[in-house]
Amino acid sequence: MLIGVLALQGAFIEHERMLAKLGADSVELRQKSDLDRGFDALIIPGGESTVQGKLLRELGMFEILKERIEAGLPVYGTCAGLLLLARKIQNDERSHLATMDITAVRNAYGRQLGSFHTEAQFDGIGKIPMTFIRAPYIESVSGDAEALAVVDGKIVAAREGNQLVTAFHPELNEDLSVHSYFLDMVRDAERRNAHTHVCAR
Ligand code: GLN
Repeated sequence: MLIGVLALQGAFIEHERMLAKLGADSVELRQKSDLDRGFDALIIPGGESTVQGKLLRELGMFEILKERIEAGLPVYGTCAGLLLLARKIQNDERSHLATMDITAVRNAYGRQLGSFHTEAQFDGIGKIPMTFIRAPYIESVSGDAEALAVVDGKIVAAREGNQLVTAFHPELNEDLSVHSYFLDMVRDAERRNAHTHVCAR
């Protein structure tokens, strides 16, 4: 299993470390030609969503990744990655890949509470540490998207089929459970694909 980690900007190395601890190989995606590396899933790290969105477009990676995600490529977006995947960003006229039926609010916790740490329940995992840095939250989910974690009445994690997002940064803690949850999603997708190939023969 090979995980592509978008490495244009932001906290991508931390994700690679988590994957390595879980025994999964990763490849850094820095330019269009890296998209030919045959990876099975994608991680979009935290950082600045506007910068990452701009670079994705300028480097000609935007449409290719959007199409692959829409075709079922498993993807996990943290923080800025969540904003890149959101269908709508309430306080930004721009949306980016817009593949997931969630409405997000950018820099949603204001200046006072720019960064904070808590522990909360994550559906399917249990109670985990959550570190927020100038984080968005999810104002609403629609369609097939479902909330997986709520902190102070705000949705901070969600899933829609092959897409997973968290407003917080599990890669900044020691707890591997969210990455492990994502790798399970990737394995499920691989199993489903194998099944489809066998049935199509
Ligand atoms: N505030 C950033 C943005 O709007 C996200 C912050 C983060 O990824 N830690 O893109």
